[in-house]
Amino acid sequence: MSQLYELDVLNPATEEVIATVPGAVEQDVDAAVRRASKAQTTWAALAPADRARLLRRFAVVVDEHREELARLEVREAGHTIGNARWEAGNVRDLLDYAAGGVERLTGRQIPVAGGLDVTLLEPLGVVGVIAPWNFPMPIAAWGTAPALAAGNAVLLKPAETTPLTALRLAELALEAGLPEHLFQVLPGRGDIAGDSLVRHPGVAKIVFTGSTRVGKRIMALCADQVKRVTLELGGKSPNIVFADADLEAAAAAAPMSFLDNSGQDCCARTRVLVQRTAYDRFLELLTPAIESVVVGDPADEKTDMGPLISRAQLDRVRSYVTDDLDGIRGKAPEGPGFWYPPTVLTGVDPHARVAVEEVFGPVAVVLPFDDEADAVALANATEYGLSGSIWTRDVGRALRVSQAVRAGNLSVNSHSSVRYWTPFGGYKQSGVGRELGPDALTAFTETKNVFISTEGPAQ
Ligand code: NAD
Repeated sequence: MSQLYELDVLNPATEEVIATVPGAVEQDVDAAVRRASKAQTTWAALAPADRARLLRRFAVVVDEHREELARLEVREAGHTIGNARWEAGNVRDLLDYAAGGVERLTGRQIPVAGGLDVTLLEPLGVVGVIAPWNFPMPIAAWGTAPALAAGNAVLLKPAETTPLTALRLAELALEAGLPEHLFQVLPGRGDIAGDSLVRHPGVAKIVFTGSTRVGKRIMALCADQVKRVTLELGGKSPNIVFADADLEAAAAAAPMSFLDNSGQDCCARTRVLVQRTAYDRFLELLTPAIESVVVGDPADEKTDMGPLISRAQLDRVRSYVTDDLDGIRGKAPEGPGFWYPPTVLTGVDPHARVAVEEVFGPVAVVLPFDDEADAVALANATEYGLSGSIWTRDVGRALRVSQAVRAGNLSVNSHSSVRYWTPFGGYKQSGVGRELGPDALTAFTETKNVFISTEGPAQ
């Protein structure tokens, strides 16, 4: 690394500097692309079973270091220890799942006259993964694991605030026996290291997760080279509660659907839409549920919610919640650390900034609706379309609303949305492309069609 600048990594629960990491500049990115390109050629030439075996070994090594990775995530990202353990386990599972795909990455044989037609799925080459700070480990692995499995090399640019788990994962990859330079981590600033990766002609695809603003810029830069791009951007997802739902269950599940990870979750259900006839009862049930959320030291097993990632994120969240707004407010620690209490706002204009923009903090709005059509219109009234939940006992309604809401990931009577073996991605300005699921590896290949004549050479 050129050592031209450094990143200070803070513990968001204490504001202490826990590490200083050199940041990558254009020359570092260029050197990394050259090394990765060589490693990729060797990797793609390995027998599929050998690539799969090495990725499985990587998964085992991650599993052996699960607690260490989780503790690192708690320290640099402020995640609760329970979540952080799940996240490290998720990396292991993503690697295992991708390894299972190596020998199943099959093309097609298509009927044609006078010969045989087959499709070959070939690796893209060097893939750049630009990860955010909200789920540093899982999101890095969403791109990295299937890209490697499909025969590519990966350059991972973690977020400025959370480079430590990524750097550790690169060490573990080497320990597991992955070829040197196949998976490299380039910590650094988005506008320096990230930008160089996007512009580099040797990078065949960019997988970006982060803000819609930066995603749009990256898409425009990729267009210049017709570079492949997957974007996972923001969300402002609805949690639609019909009067016929199990209101107790809906109210009990609502808090962590937007407070998990302190609301720094692109799938957070931050627009709680409640049918007017059930509105008062729902708020009555929601109030104690919000007030009982435990906010505090993320390393304590009993904590439900930790701090926000940074001072900048805290200021951003504060800018949305003005003193004149009514609602339910939970408790948060005072003193050092980037703390913000669980907050549910009522009586908000459905067009207000806080009701339509992604706050990325522990803040939700509750909005009433009258009927199904009204609920769907309200749910669709944002530029985003990532996730959403529908609470009802009416199966027909659950299906109708699932079809009408323009979002990539919906759940009925539940808030689950991200599983590594089901597809994930956004409609509208929430993104382009899909990650995870059975087609994850295909997204890191080019399809080549080959026709082989059986007619013999012309005489
Ligand atoms: P961001 O989009 O700036 O950062 C995400 C990643 O992109 C980081 O690795 C960053 O270094 C990199 N990056 C930034 N500028 C870049 C550029 N010009 N070229 C290439 N890479 C670049 O996000 P942020 O500033 O950390 O957060 C701001 C807001 O974005 C949040 O408040 C939230 O609304 C949203 N966000 C969404 C997600 C998500 O999962 N959808 C994740 C993080 C942030």
